[in-house]
Amino acid sequence: MQWSFRVGRIGGTDVKIHLTFLLLVAWYAWSAYGEGGTHAALVSVAFLLALFTCVLLHEFGHIRMARRFGVRTPDVLLLPIGGLARLERMPEEPRQELLIALAGPAVTLAIALALFGLLRVLGAPLDPDQLAPGQPDLLQKVMWVNLALLLFNLLPVFPMDGGRVLRALLAMRLGLLRATRIAARVGQLGALVLGLWGLGFFSAWGLSPSVVLVLIAVFVYLAAGGEAAAVETRAAGQGLTVHDMMITRYVALPVHATLQDAVDALLAGEQREFPIVDNWGRLEGLLTRDGLIRGLAERGAGASVEQAMTRGVSHLEASLPFKDALDRLAVSGLPALPVLDAGGALVGLLTRDNLADILLIRRAGEDVPIRRA
Ligand SMILES: [Zn+2]
Repeated sequence: MQWSFRVGRIGGTDVKIHLTFLLLVAWYAWSAYGEGGTHAALVSVAFLLALFTCVLLHEFGHIRMARRFGVRTPDVLLLPIGGLARLERMPEEPRQELLIALAGPAVTLAIALALFGLLRVLGAPLDPDQLAPGQPDLLQKVMWVNLALLLFNLLPVFPMDGGRVLRALLAMRLGLLRATRIAARVGQLGALVLGLWGLGFFSAWGLSPSVVLVLIAVFVYLAAGGEAAAVETRAAGQGLTVHDMMITRYVALPVHATLQDAVDALLAGEQREFPIVDNWGRLEGLLTRDGLIRGLAERGAGASVEQAMTRGVSHLEASLPFKDALDRLAVSGLPALPVLDAGGALVGLLTRDNLADILLIRRAGEDVPIRRA
């Protein structure tokens, strides 16, 4: 994600902070300064840093548990709405997903309990009003916020941990696909309720409207839909390999072709991504439509395709299962990836459009044969 920068690395995971998170800290400090001067500003920054640490510990709960199941986490991103540990993949074994989803809230609960114990030892009276802005008792504030985070995280809606717990529990009985469909419905329903609350539909019951809630509701709604779509896609591709899906009728351009040649090829057919090959037919790069347009704008139609192509694109093997091909395509950020045989010769092209066609066909009828001989 853009607008974020690395602040450190813990156990193979980059810790990144989103710029908006810093803006939140600055805004929080500034408004506290306006109300109570330097001391209040320092207290509120200290509170946010403590909160930041708690959220990070929560995320590392997920990360450590995922690690146990052999799943690495390249980075964890801190946003104003919370932490986002980006696991390499989610295990499809429901029990593993359940444990990973629960590990974060377990850490949050442990922090809240430890603070509760500490407050009891110190003899401080417990008072939920300490959560309100401008209250000085930092320990209490952090404890109440952790409890609130715990409850919020356990709401059974994607992408909250509770949503994953619900999906994993359902998946143990119903399978991943049906479980995800149900969990996504529940999540979208939850988002709707949250959105109505944010818009003030329940103010008669003392639930005051809030813009932040509306934003979270939209986020949750989209995330639930996205999660469901991703799982549907995977299910539709079950049993297929790259060999079954790649396009085999395509145009490859030689390295010495010009962008004008690429324009002609683009307009002559449906193909939008062109493998660029050397004189021996070996892959040199991939010219995408965006790359072509950019090349035309910067260098003109007479420039060589070599100057506009993407170099070092990862390639796929024909035997690769659908799911892995999908992951590789997503990681590459490209609209297509070349398929090479064992000898390194170009044999096909896997494109996003291509995948969309396959999914439409699969949905039209499970028994329509797609496999190639
Ligand atoms: Zn979590």
